[in-house]
Amino acid sequence: MKPRVGFFDFASCEGCQLTVLNLENELLDLVELMDIIEFREISSETGGELDIAFVEGSICRPEDVRRLRAIRRRSRLLIALGACADTAGINALVSDRPEAELVREVYGDDPELMPAAGHPRPLSAFVQVDGRVPGCPIDGQEFLAILQALLIGRQPELPGFAVCAECKLAELPCTFERGIVCLGPITRAGCSAHCVAEGDRCRGCRGMVDEPRSGPYYRILEEHGLDLDAIREQLRTFNLAGEVKK
Ligand code: SF4
Ligand code: SF4
Ligand code: SF4
Repeated sequence: MKPRVGFFDFASCEGCQLTVLNLENELLDLVELMDIIEFREISSETGGELDIAFVEGSICRPEDVRRLRAIRRRSRLLIALGACADTAGINALVSDRPEAELVREVYGDDPELMPAAGHPRPLSAFVQVDGRVPGCPIDGQEFLAILQALLIGRQPELPGFAVCAECKLAELPCTFERGIVCLGPITRAGCSAHCVAEGDRCRGCRGMVDEPRSGPYYRILEEHGLDLDAIREQLRTFNLAGEVKK
């Protein structure tokens, strides 16, 4: 029997699911190896036990918690798909301002239109998470590698090194040389330093490496007079809900 796989979403822009769908040709090959049981963006089919549930989005409301726990009960493995699910991502930025103020800004003063927004949390705040596909959005090729590992019963591994390593390999000029702070020295690699290659800086969407202070690239921060506390503010964009490791 083929492994049964499902895709689910909570508070998110659905960009990570779209990244999966954009894999078109590779996915068609993979469909030979698995049955996609649920995937709201392509099918209305639902139900049954799952071998792997990929879950996108942050958990905000009590009904989200109930639904997430129901998905957990029917899934052998539950994988956080993207930063919103992994760290609560940019959704957690709502915590910076009063909820009522934000809701009024988006929905106006009509109380009928105002939803209960809640406080976005990562999946791991409520259920056991067996793996993660980091990034905002995820990297399609990394998703495929993780899926393939799961399908053959292997625990997928994320790079243990920082984005700087990929940046140096690509011989990209360091943004610090232009006086622009970059979070690459403490951010987990795997995106080929995408943002730096596009002329921007790393904003930490893939989360931190495990031991940021002992990483070889940490000295880039030190050389520019920055320590973990100084860049804590910078990490808020994608990591507000998570612990910034000391
Ligand atoms: S992680 Fe980013 S791309 Fe993925 S659903 Fe969240 S906001 Fe969208
Ligand atoms: S700090 Fe940023 S720009 Fe500089 S090497 Fe590291 S990833 Fe590249
Ligand atoms: S460079 Fe940084 S912000 Fe950009 S995709 Fe990679 S980890 Fe995310």
